[in-house]
Amino acid sequence: MPPDETTDDKAHAGRQSGDGPPRAAGDGRQRLTPEQHRVLREGGTERAFTGAYHDEKADGLYRCAGCGAALFSSRAKFDSGSGWPSFAEAVGQNVTLRDDLSHKMRRIEAVCASCGGHLGHLFDDGPRDRGGLRYCVNSAALVLDREPSS
Ligand SMILES: [Zn+2]
Repeated sequence: MPPDETTDDKAHAGRQSGDGPPRAAGDGRQRLTPEQHRVLREGGTERAFTGAYHDEKADGLYRCAGCGAALFSSRAKFDSGSGWPSFAEAVGQNVTLRDDLSHKMRRIEAVCASCGGHLGHLFDDGPRDRGGLRYCVNSAALVLDREPSS
């Protein structure tokens, strides 16, 4: 089932084609909404409690909205109360960590290992019984691949 964003994107595609030919659908990369682009490619942060997944409870696999790489399992998700989707662990080595010294803070940035898209930040105030880590991720960087409910 395609995510809702795909439908939205098609509505805008005609106006953004510019000089070049329109990009063919199904070229392996999902087109990004302006909000997805701002987060993934410009390192932006969505406002707390505004994202699609901060309160999402469904089972499934959270994929990178930029390239489709599997990033987080719903089983690692927990309710942090922060207003952003929070995960205790990432899938394999699919999330890369790097120092982020912006905004006069020292934080650890979490990026997609496949496409380098900005996902969010890693903090050490996660649930102790699950390792103590909290990946604080923007909903806009994610697309939930829902498991069939049957
Ligand atoms: Zn990616």
